[in-house]
Amino acid sequence: MADQFQDGPGPSDRVDDVPQVECSRCDAEWDLRYELDELQIGNRAVERFALDHRRHTGHFPDTVTPWIADCRRCPDGEEFLAERPARRWAETHARHTRHSVRIGHADLDEPVVITREE
Ligand SMILES: [Zn+2]
Ligand SMILES: [Zn+2]
Repeated sequence: MADQFQDGPGPSDRVDDVPQVECSRCDAEWDLRYELDELQIGNRAVERFALDHRRHTGHFPDTVTPWIADCRRCPDGEEFLAERPARRWAETHARHTRHSVRIGHADLDEPVVITREE
């Protein structure tokens, strides 16, 4: 019947449609079919996966480069997917504790330091 129709790429090429995420700390990789099919979140699938992964394992997978807010005075710190929430965390922490917080990311030449406004 429709057999002649299949002259394009083989079935293995369809994997490209599903984003893959790797995590070297877990030594594992996932495809995001669940996020795409069950959660219907389309192009935010990687972001969602990364946040879920961190919630359950405490770290981000390799695919994302986190913004890291790191307090210089106490062990507190958080990782974020975007600069804005990292900055918000740093400003809030600085506001409440008067600690200065360093924000780092692979794209930054050097970390930004947030201190409380006097
Ligand atoms: Zn992991
Ligand atoms: Zn602190």
